[in-house]
Amino acid sequence: MTEQPARSFPSRARVVVIGGGVGGTSVAYHLAKAGESDVVLVDRSELTSGSTFHSAGLVGQLRSDPTLTEMNRYSAHLYAELQAGDTPPGWVQCGSIRLASTQERWEEIQRQDGWAASSGLEMQLISAKEAQDLFPLMSTVGVVGACFLPTDGQVDPSGLAYALAAGARAMGVQIHTHTRVLGIDTEGEGLRRRVTRVRTDKGDIECELVVDCGGMFAAEIARMVDVRVPIVPMSHQYVVTEALFAHRETMLPSLRDPDNLVYFRQEVDGLVMGGYERSSAPWTASASSYDAVPADFNGRLLAPDDDRFVEIAENAAIRVPSIADAGIRTFINGPEAFTPDNEFCLGPTDVGGFFVAAGFCAHGIAGAGGIGKVMAEWVLEGAPPMDLWHMDVRRFGASYRSPSYTLARTVENYESYYDIRYPAHERAAGRPLRVSSAYTWHQEHGASFGEKSGWERVNVYETNSRADDEAWRPQGWAGRHWSPAVVAEHQACRSAAAIFDESSFAKIEVSGPDAARLVEWVFDNRVARGAGAVTYTQALNAGGGIEMDVTVTQLDAQVFLVVSGTAFANHDASWLRTQARALDADVRIVDVTGAWACFGLWGPNARDVLAPLTPQDLGNEAFPFMSMRDTTLGDVPVRMVRVTFVGELGWEIYCPSEYGAGLWRSLWDAGQAQGLVAGGYRAIDSLRLEKGYRVWGADVDPGHTPYEAGLGFCVRLDKPGGFLGREALAAQKEAGVAQRLVCLLLDERDEVALGNEPVRIDGAVVGRVTSGGIGYSLGASIAFVYLPVALAEAGLRVEVGIFGRWVGATVTADPLYDPTSSRVRA
Ligand SMILES: Cc1cc2nc3c(=O)[nH]c(=O)nc-3n(C[C@H](O)[C@H](O)[C@H](O)COP(=O)(O)OP(=O)(O)OC[C@H]3O[C@@H](n4cnc5c(N)ncnc54)[C@H](O)[C@@H]3O)c2cc1C
Repeated sequence: MTEQPARSFPSRARVVVIGGGVGGTSVAYHLAKAGESDVVLVDRSELTSGSTFHSAGLVGQLRSDPTLTEMNRYSAHLYAELQAGDTPPGWVQCGSIRLASTQERWEEIQRQDGWAASSGLEMQLISAKEAQDLFPLMSTVGVVGACFLPTDGQVDPSGLAYALAAGARAMGVQIHTHTRVLGIDTEGEGLRRRVTRVRTDKGDIECELVVDCGGMFAAEIARMVDVRVPIVPMSHQYVVTEALFAHRETMLPSLRDPDNLVYFRQEVDGLVMGGYERSSAPWTASASSYDAVPADFNGRLLAPDDDRFVEIAENAAIRVPSIADAGIRTFINGPEAFTPDNEFCLGPTDVGGFFVAAGFCAHGIAGAGGIGKVMAEWVLEGAPPMDLWHMDVRRFGASYRSPSYTLARTVENYESYYDIRYPAHERAAGRPLRVSSAYTWHQEHGASFGEKSGWERVNVYETNSRADDEAWRPQGWAGRHWSPAVVAEHQACRSAAAIFDESSFAKIEVSGPDAARLVEWVFDNRVARGAGAVTYTQALNAGGGIEMDVTVTQLDAQVFLVVSGTAFANHDASWLRTQARALDADVRIVDVTGAWACFGLWGPNARDVLAPLTPQDLGNEAFPFMSMRDTTLGDVPVRMVRVTFVGELGWEIYCPSEYGAGLWRSLWDAGQAQGLVAGGYRAIDSLRLEKGYRVWGADVDPGHTPYEAGLGFCVRLDKPGGFLGREALAAQKEAGVAQRLVCLLLDERDEVALGNEPVRIDGAVVGRVTSGGIGYSLGASIAFVYLPVALAEAGLRVEVGIFGRWVGATVTADPLYDPTSSRVRA
């Protein structure tokens, strides 16, 4: 397609989109479709001249995460729609096959079948022979089974970008190619810093909003405003073969054989064949330097790396034997933007008005439609239409400013791209990085560590394992990384006392003259209730969806401590900063996670363990549930907060990190006479499930309100001055909720739902599991699911799809354990 001559260069626009690949053109298209046509898209070269032009063009929809599946489904619909328009992008709905060449992969496919069912995506489990009937070139040797997704397809990547660009232009977007962004100006300091202008080699554009759709160049563009986008350009290869078959009336489905690391799709009378090499090749980024893509690297490829491609080529010939004798028409080695966790980098940043949509990890063609749609809403409305935290560019902590850490994590991901991700599998790269002050003690006492946000956290202490507890081991995948130690740790907490190192919990301090005003506006509960008050509460978006689920402790008239899950420090700090900016509040928001050790000590004997160590009266009157006291324990100054995440009497105990090792030892020694056991996060998860405590990102999220999540008891609709999301909640309260989070008890104790399993009634899928696990006090397998409110009654029978088996379950009143919280308030 020939490009239209550019109009005169604009000196201002509301939105500037940087990058003319599938990402930028889709964002521009969807901004205009949403009614914002005051948009200028610039590209330093031709459209599609980054990674887009050399893509293989496969469009697969099913992902492990329902959100991305929904986005990719939208993409497929959009591409079909564009195909019927004036600039068809070469979309063909040819379907796709995924093979299981091992038993474990077959189990994974059965699990994926459950995901497809809960996402409403058509998927068929088929035999090796049926797969071969659909893709006659393949050998069935070693194939255990397969699945077929008839609505998947392929598209011409450049054609797609041009179709989106044409649509955007038709709706008023200006597109200026050969226009290189040289700098981005901002004004204001700290929270008030905002973009004001994009400087290009064709002139400056005043603007309110910038969307960095720079693909593998996105990190370089973000550095212009001191924002870190942890993207590594990685070489990615495929070949196009010479003719392998005679003319076909219908296009072959694409074929993936992850156990052999390869994929195929039809290209005229040959095949595109590529895969993920076990030895990756980062490009221009190193352990000591950020990406540095050459200034003239547009419309260009890297030299073929035959050596790295040998394993892929050999495996390809196992699955498609005729490929061994076929000549190679084209060898593509193109760089693509990969991220440390294989998820996109989307959304706003800490610079007002500066958004990112990049890092598409070799599925940007499949993702582009959905990405453009969610980004347009995010940019224009200030919030995405669904929970996108796992794709949110702000999820990366400060450690990702390091090029070596970013590289190590990205390389590990690339090289294990097609590996089966077992639940509770732990990553290895870049560890250990962040450790608690009691880390050495944990190591010496048999701790098995997991990693979250760079923190080493104790999953279990293997030394707590008892042979008899093996009987609790769950079936299948849930039993793979399971340890019997979790049973002993759980039971000790219920019967005596257990101590947990929660130092990684995110701790954000909000202080300043407007701190009380800010937290009262942000949270749905009353939080500014005087020094020492501790409040369980949620921060909501304008639609009433839950953005944060936290405890807030008022430390002083102008100081509040917000405590949240390990992985949410950046998210929560960022949410608070965004609201502070909107309120123009005079506050300081600081992540103080590393400065404070935090140990949870809970169980019926907790008071007896702690009382001898402290001058503080720990009785209910002097120290009621949901309050905080500054005191000492042994020699250590501490802040004790009477809260629980396990449903037992006890405290979270905070001290400055340098005291942590000593405090842990004192607590441990004091607890020995009381049966104190050290426990890990696996036990916490089981304890909290029984008590019905929700986890943000799984059971509660921005798509659900407190009323739907069973957290209506936190909502103070009558709070003076209101709060963000109040109107939506008031309307929902009036109208009644449509769905509700309910607790399920599964009929079989050793069948464990891991999340995303479909839940059905009379054969119709009505929901999907948010989280699940075994409650070792109740002796039951528990799961949570949102159900239509008409169905959400105790006693209702449902079925949960676990690895292809439908397991009976009953909706049960929640919480299952200590519903009156008498133990917590003991
Ligand atoms: C070999 C290979 C095979 C692939 N196969 C598939 C597949 O089968 N399916 C799939 O879904 N995905 C696939 N992908 C991934 C897909 O191609 C990418 O995710 C997608 O094209 C990225 O699009 P983008 O818009 O983010 O980036 P790009 O296409 O790289 O666009 C970024 C643009 O930003 C511009 N730019 C950069 N700096 C500046 C500046 N300073 N000023 C102005 N403009 C600037 C660049 O010129 C460029 O045009 C594959 C990728 C590769 C490499």
